Amino acid sequence: MNRSTSLHALQTEQFDICIIGGGASGAGCALDAVSRGLKTALIERDDFSSATSSSSTKLVHGGVRYLEQAFKKFDPKQLSMVRKGLYERQTLLRIAPHLAHPLALVTPCKNWFAGLYFSIGLKLYDLLAGSRRMAPSRWLSKKEALQYFPAFSTTSFQSAVLYYDGQFDDARFNLGLAQTAAQLGASVANHCQAIRFETDEQGQIKAALVRDELTGDTFWLRAKVFVNATGTRADMLRQKANPKQATRMRASKGAHVVLPMSAVGPTSAALLVPETADGRVLFAIPWRGHYLIGTTDTEADPTETPYLQPDEAEYLIEHVSQYLAKPLTIDQVRGGFAGLRPLLQADPNASSKSLVRDHEVEIDGQTGLVSLMGGKWTTYRLMAEDTIDACCTRLGVSTKSKTDELILIGGDGYSPTFVQSLLSHYASVDPATVTHLAETYGTQANAVLQLIEETSSLAERLVDHHPFVKAEVIYAARAEMAHTLEDLLLRRIRLGLVDWRAAIAATPVAAQLLGAELGLTTTEVQRQQNEFVQYMQTCMEQAHPIKEERRITVGLN
Ligand SMILES: Cc1cc2nc3c(=O)[nH]c(=O)nc-3n(C[C@H](O)[C@H](O)[C@H](O)COP(=O)(O)OP(=O)(O)OC[C@H]3O[C@@H](n4cnc5c(N)ncnc54)[C@H](O)[C@@H]3O)c2cc1C
Repeated sequence: MNRSTSLHALQTEQFDICIIGGGASGAGCALDAVSRGLKTALIERDDFSSATSSSSTKLVHGGVRYLEQAFKKFDPKQLSMVRKGLYERQTLLRIAPHLAHPLALVTPCKNWFAGLYFSIGLKLYDLLAGSRRMAPSRWLSKKEALQYFPAFSTTSFQSAVLYYDGQFDDARFNLGLAQTAAQLGASVANHCQAIRFETDEQGQIKAALVRDELTGDTFWLRAKVFVNATGTRADMLRQKANPKQATRMRASKGAHVVLPMSAVGPTSAALLVPETADGRVLFAIPWRGHYLIGTTDTEADPTETPYLQPDEAEYLIEHVSQYLAKPLTIDQVRGGFAGLRPLLQADPNASSKSLVRDHEVEIDGQTGLVSLMGGKWTTYRLMAEDTIDACCTRLGVSTKSKTDELILIGGDGYSPTFVQSLLSHYASVDPATVTHLAETYGTQANAVLQLIEETSSLAERLVDHHPFVKAEVIYAARAEMAHTLEDLLLRRIRLGLVDWRAAIAATPVAAQLLGAELGLTTTEVQRQQNEFVQYMQTCMEQAHPIKEERRITVGLN
């Protein structure tokens, strides 16, 4: 992906369709549109997945909680959503096998009734998946449960139920969608914000004024159809286009804490806490060598920047600890993050917890703006298909979505044996690095390893105890449109999510490499470095207020 080339096209060409918003929904729409042969533009005000789409629990799922709600409330809409999610689960695992894979989850049950309840519920979950089911769920004795999840406190449960869902790297999947769209010919640019619209004599939108957030320059982007895929900010764009539009979106904040694997002990299975005092389910999930625990659900302002707060960290640690032999402590938290769920409201008085995670494609008759609202990560592909179907009708084009079969960049040719072949081909590189690169970039790992072959120092790690190497910085700048340290250390390399202090420690080296690759001035490199360290400091202080003398000052001046 080359931002300059894309920017030139965005400024000079006329597009069939312009997607505004580069999260899962927008990047999914761009891929759907371009793969149908439409001339496609995608703009994102910050970075791909910089809002909600990099802050999910990273589950590719139908949603066991939604299944329970569907039965408790006799809600066929919820049931259909679960079925769609289960259908898509298999598709996502197939189109990005390097980024999404099956995950075993163990649900502890306090008594025989709970064991029966969850066994039946999870069998229904299997059944709803039909031919697309994963390994079947099954009841586990206490002894068996301990084999899957050795950290259990033996007195906290009587038996357990094992089931399977999918797990993925959300930000890298999102990037994969944008990259694959670009590879097929879409003009894709991050750090470009849609500011306002221009309409024709009939009031239909014909252009958007776009500001390049890296330079401050503005330009008009012309397209026949504009899609609003701006997540929790959808109302802002809808009302910019047509001030008479009523508010539709609500936001609910969800927070996660990240702990080192050693805090829980080695396990490949996740723990599902079936019910908290406030009626939530919580997940404690092994993810990229760490433990990720989430999530909360509280009403939020759709425009706020969400941070993990101390009460949220305590809530998560406390509830999961009830099931562990060695309770977790706040001091073990190394990282964390929070995001805003884009929820569609039918009833303005409903609580955010009760809103169905379904989506809607709205066409504003007055301006022609197509807005995609609501939904969840797992169903982004179906949401995109519905949206582009609606756009095709407006364009008078009849084509069908092809994304069900479209393998994302890095996934083509990837198989369980790929790592082995890479290990034997790059025998001189640390096997841990080769494995890490294969699991992160899929078949694109070859390109990162070639950088290491050319310059051996690029095999050096950015920071101790984490697998990320210098070559990844060069690759992110050259091939993945990373333009800021946040793009790099939060979403291309996910260090800033899992370990705030390590991310601060990696900042000087990462900043030098990124700056040199992008041709940034020393002043700009220093500015970015200060800004990123400040952001990490804020994440730490918001989550776990620390005394002034313990503040980390690496890289700040
Ligand atoms: C805590 C939490 C956990 C979750 N866990 C899961 C899970 O495990 N599995 C699952 O399936 N789903 C999960 N979800 C839901 C899922 O993450 C979201 O539904 C999904 O990421 C929303 O994607 P989106 O593209 O609609 O929104 P966003 O990711 O918010 O993308 C919208 C984008 O639009 C951009 N934008 C806004 N205004 C403009 C403008 N004017 N010009 C250009 N760009 C603009 C923003 O910068 C943003 O990047 C979770 C959500 C949360 C909050």
